[in-house]
Amino acid sequence: MNKMTCKQLGGACDIEFLGESFDDIANQSKKHGMEMFQKGDTAHIEAMNEMQKLMKEPSDFAKWFESKKEEFNNLNDI
Ligand SMILES: [Zn+2]
Repeated sequence: MNKMTCKQLGGACDIEFLGESFDDIANQSKKHGMEMFQKGDTAHIEAMNEMQKLMKEPSDFAKWFESKKEEFNNLNDI
């Protein structure tokens, strides 16, 4: 089990996501981002806009995703 924060995943706060796999954590982060977006949280909306810029360039996004996955895999188990 590893954990990453919202900020580490391109978000805007220090909430922690726990998961067995990076995909698991990425899904939780996505869901949290959507919730904060719906609440109208400015910091998260800005963070999401940044992510969307990244997603416009699929190769850039893939690189970002892989680097985060590596970061996750290099974390010590908790
Ligand atoms: Zn957050």
